Amino acid sequence: MNRITLLICGAVLLLFGCQNGTGSSDSFDCAASLSNEESMNSIDVTMTEGSDYGRGLLSKYTSFTLTTDLSVLTENECKMLPHLFAAADEMEAIFWMQTYGDRDELLGSIEDPALREFAQINYGPWDRIDGNAPFIDGVGDKPAGANMYPSDMSKEEFEAAAASNSDLASLYTMVVRDADESLTPIAYHDVFSEHMERAAHELRAASVFADEPGLKRYLELRAEALTSSDYQESDFAWMDMKDNRIDIVIGPIETYEDGLYGYKAAAEAFVLIKDLSWSDRLSRYASLLPMLQEGLPVPPEYKQETPGTDSDLNAYDVIYYAGDTNAGSKTIAINLPNDEEVQLQKGTRRLQLKNSMQAKFDKILVPISKVLIVDDQREYISFNAFFGNTMFHEVAHGLGIKNTLDGSSTVRGALKEHASALEEGKADVLGLYMVSKLIEEGEIEADIRENMVTFLASIFRSIRFGASSAHGRANMIRFNYFSEMGAFTRDEETGTYSADYDKMIDAMNALTEKILRFQGDGDYDGVSAFVDEYARVGSRLQMDLDRLSDEGIPVDIVFKQGLAIVGN
Ligand code: ZN
Repeated sequence: MNRITLLICGAVLLLFGCQNGTGSSDSFDCAASLSNEESMNSIDVTMTEGSDYGRGLLSKYTSFTLTTDLSVLTENECKMLPHLFAAADEMEAIFWMQTYGDRDELLGSIEDPALREFAQINYGPWDRIDGNAPFIDGVGDKPAGANMYPSDMSKEEFEAAAASNSDLASLYTMVVRDADESLTPIAYHDVFSEHMERAAHELRAASVFADEPGLKRYLELRAEALTSSDYQESDFAWMDMKDNRIDIVIGPIETYEDGLYGYKAAAEAFVLIKDLSWSDRLSRYASLLPMLQEGLPVPPEYKQETPGTDSDLNAYDVIYYAGDTNAGSKTIAINLPNDEEVQLQKGTRRLQLKNSMQAKFDKILVPISKVLIVDDQREYISFNAFFGNTMFHEVAHGLGIKNTLDGSSTVRGALKEHASALEEGKADVLGLYMVSKLIEEGEIEADIRENMVTFLASIFRSIRFGASSAHGRANMIRFNYFSEMGAFTRDEETGTYSADYDKMIDAMNALTEKILRFQGDGDYDGVSAFVDEYARVGSRLQMDLDRLSDEGIPVDIVFKQGLAIVGN
């Protein structure tokens, strides 16, 4: 068995076989102590009654129970959980207002229980994995800026106003109309003050039980950040804490929901249990980032920044998803913080969410490959490769550059609403680049065919997230670009795809260069034209995607989750 396989198998065994038991307390039964707690925000698509239409929509999802081995927790760690879940629920409430408006009014107006559950999954009446198509009569199209800007605002109006008031473009403000109709920013900690204060209160209550000083400090600073909209210090504190078993990612974080500009951060939360033994095994990948940055197939000026090496990479079980991250397709890996200053000083932390990753591999990727991958390559579909590709995708976010070459702006600021799709596309191809490079350098031994075929099958999985998702668009772009370069071919008779390993390397290098140049040049117009040309689903691809739906293969997962469920 080769080294990377050993490494990952060892890890997987550890995950599913023998959780590390250090720190567990003998007499305390965490699961039992939580078993009477109410579970909010739990979805079970199989339990639902309703119309055929509604149940048809629900069949895009399959339910998965979020659990972990709570016996590894100390009594104090266990006592933090109810507070962390409660804080997460406040993000749930905020996200509803950011993306739609009045949750209870919408859900109360839907009589069909299946449709009501579908609206809960989507946090509104638009189908997130079908390009935000409205699924309730009469609601109209989803506003590009969701509910974070006035729906009657034009881009011209916003840009004119933002020129003299930069708070309008802040990550942490809602844009509303003043009494005199002019555009006004309101800070999240003001407009959502009640929820932010309650979340802060819960984080402080949890911090009382935090025995690990780094975690205690992070929770205290994060509580402060929620009520001041100043997140940087808490981001630094989050990067500084290393030895915590429990983690919570909470606050307004990702900007995908703002389809208008990609400026506004949407509220979300993950409650996580870390597998402590991973840090040691995987930290060495972070130390290789500078070498990998140097080897990028682009001219020197496009790789002039030095990636931070203080980054770390860990595996977690997620035990609670709330808000933005729970809407539509579910995240299986996180790379944070997004603050470029923190990234340059501290690097980033990459969180591999192993329980949801395994769910997607088993319930979605393997069934997809049975339909769309050619017979004699199907043996290369492997969880190790899926895990590896996802892991290196996250590491690859740390490569490339954060600022445009002329220094006038961050890449994110320059590429606006296209920034997320391009960044995701970058991480995908650079993830594959890293695997191939590390094999070449003798750093890992893996069968690149597994990574490539699994990569190919993953493209179909992610295209199904639809054009409203940055990941969906990134994968459409890659499908069309790779197809043009002959990185894979389709057998007309069987309707299956096979990877061409050599051409895939060429396509990977070419797309890498294209994306890094767009980013370095801050070439908004170039990216717009590129996205228009490539981020689409052609008729033959659509036919193949329809075959997946006809086979009843779910597009994504929803969670049965909550305190009462987590220990079972
Ligand atoms: Zn990513």
